[in-house]
Amino acid sequence: MTKDEIIRKHKQYLFPSITTYFSEPLVTDHASMQYLWDADGNKYLDFFGGIVTISVGHTNPRVTSKVKAQIDKLQHASTLFPNEAVVALAEKIAQITPGEISQSFFSNSGTEANETAVQIARMYTGNFEVVALRHGYSGRSQMAQSLTGHGTWRKSLPVSTPGIVHALNPYCYRCPFGMKPTECGIECAKDVEAVIQTTTSGQIAAFIAEPIQGVGGFITPPKEYFKIVFNIVKQYGGLFISDEVQTGWGRTGKKWFGIEQWEVYPDIITSAKGLANGMPVGLTATRPEIAGSFKGLQISTFGGNPVTSVAAKATIDLIEEDRLMDNAEVVGNYFRQGLQSLQDKHDLIGDVRGMGLMQALEFVKDRKTKEVAPQETTQFMEECRSRGLLVGKGGLYGNVIRMSPPLNIAKSDVDEAIKIMDEALSAVRQPAVAATR
Ligand code: PMP
Repeated sequence: MTKDEIIRKHKQYLFPSITTYFSEPLVTDHASMQYLWDADGNKYLDFFGGIVTISVGHTNPRVTSKVKAQIDKLQHASTLFPNEAVVALAEKIAQITPGEISQSFFSNSGTEANETAVQIARMYTGNFEVVALRHGYSGRSQMAQSLTGHGTWRKSLPVSTPGIVHALNPYCYRCPFGMKPTECGIECAKDVEAVIQTTTSGQIAAFIAEPIQGVGGFITPPKEYFKIVFNIVKQYGGLFISDEVQTGWGRTGKKWFGIEQWEVYPDIITSAKGLANGMPVGLTATRPEIAGSFKGLQISTFGGNPVTSVAAKATIDLIEEDRLMDNAEVVGNYFRQGLQSLQDKHDLIGDVRGMGLMQALEFVKDRKTKEVAPQETTQFMEECRSRGLLVGKGGLYGNVIRMSPPLNIAKSDVDEAIKIMDEALSAVRQPAVAATR
């Protein structure tokens, strides 16, 4: 098929609600490690990795060789029959998850992982209500959309599923209390208690949050935040669910899971995306007594599929063998310095935030008023694309550039990305000009 045919058929045969980046769609053709090529043969340095999913490089041969071998051996048998691939993966996950988490339920997506986590928290605690955070993202099912605190991704709902309330989020750059991080007393953490006291029955099933809010624009809480929240959640009978869909598997540097950066031991971890380096997978992992509280039987036809399981295990092994969590920290810090130097130079950048190889730039028209700059954000992405760099977008206001390159990138890749971003920032219309258009 030609590129134009693909674009035409995409429009004709897929739901129009499917989001595609860029005014001229980027039709992907093939990819290798940190690079992706489009149908015209243009090569891109991929700093978004299929939405925070390519952990160890596109089509990494150390993962794909195992996937290919497994396809030839056994592709599918369903959860009805144990297989070596799924138990090897579950055993590995038990070894690296924090605390006493040691049992896994596999599904196909982050959405399902979060559905499962909330279901099981309700069964274990006997409570119903769940506290989520504003600006969070939990998935696209009806309940996951209800957990989501981001209007853009709740549009299709006539009503939310019951029993879900939202606390203010730790968005320091736009503090919901109008305070400064040094003098705020972490008021946002206390809001979790206020929300429980005022909008629930007083006993909750769970609190669910992403250690760093991904879709929300890599919003990174202050270091005290999750410990305070954890204690509140326990006080009101809830389980702490850490949604590691974006922050898991070494992405934040040095640790396997984002929540470990805040020294909190969650009751349940959910994940997807980067776990299998691009193969569809969902994971809900917890302690045996919680897993054992599931009433009745559960089935997920594709959950724990041997091919996916082999991909996930190979991805985790590679991260471990090549010490990619260390690389994420070292190269992540180097990347952060580069981004801060861009901030020194370009007024459009209001905030630089993130951790490890999960870094973001928030664009504003004016640093004093913090007026959001969504058009400039889109334009910046186009300018990066035309220079051979792919970056992502996010944030409630569509004004945050999200970057999540593979964990095995080198400093030279960062140098190239920073150079392109510097040029792209210079090319983006300046705020004063923007106002006149
Ligand atoms: N949780 C988080 C934090 C996510 O970022 C996403 C996907 N963006 C999901 C859940 C849902 O995952 P999926 O798209 O695989 O259903």
